[in-house]
Amino acid sequence: MAKDLRLEVVTPDRLVLSQEVEYVGAPGIEGEFGIMPNHIPFLSALGVGSLYYKLDGKYYYVFVAGGFAEVSSNKVTILAEIAEKAEDIDLERARRAEQRARERMQKAEDNIAQARAQAALQRAMQRMTCRSTASSAGTCSL
Ligand code: ATP
Repeated sequence: MAKDLRLEVVTPDRLVLSQEVEYVGAPGIEGEFGIMPNHIPFLSALGVGSLYYKLDGKYYYVFVAGGFAEVSSNKVTILAEIAEKAEDIDLERARRAEQRARERMQKAEDNIAQARAQAALQRAMQRMTCRSTASSAGTCSL
C-alpha cells in the first residue's frame, strides 16, 4: 500500500520517530482519533495513552503523555510532552512507578498531592498497556 502519510513524534528534547506510515491512531483528550492520507487539516490536544501507526500490515505503538497533534499536507506532527516507543519502555521502572504512585495516593494529604499521584499512576499503567499491546501485535517483545 502507498505510504503517503508522514508521522513525526517529537518531544522537547528529542525526535522520537519520523516515518512514512499508512494510518495513525492517537489518544486525543476527548478520545481516540484516526488519521488516513488526505485528512483535512486538524489540531487536537493529546491525552495519556498509546499512539499507534500501521506500516506494512503491522501496528506499532508509542506511549505519549500530553502535547498536541497537528495534521497538515499529509503530515502528522505529534508534539508530545513525553513519548517513548513501546520497545523503549522500561517495564520494571513502570512497575516501580505504579507502586510508588499507589503509596502516594494513600498518603496524599491534599487534592494536589492526590492528583499528582493519580497522574503518575495513569502514566505507569498506560506505559505497561502500551508495551503489552505492542507485544500482542508482534511488534515488541515483553
Ligand atoms: P518515573 O517515576 O519512573 O520517572 P514518571 O511517570 O514520573 O516515572 P515521566 O515524568 O513521565 O516519569 O518521564 C520522565 C522521563 O523519563 C521522560 O523522558 C520519560 O520518557 C522517561 N521515562 C519515565 N518512565 C519511563 C519508563 N518506564 N520507560 C522509559 N522511559 C521512561
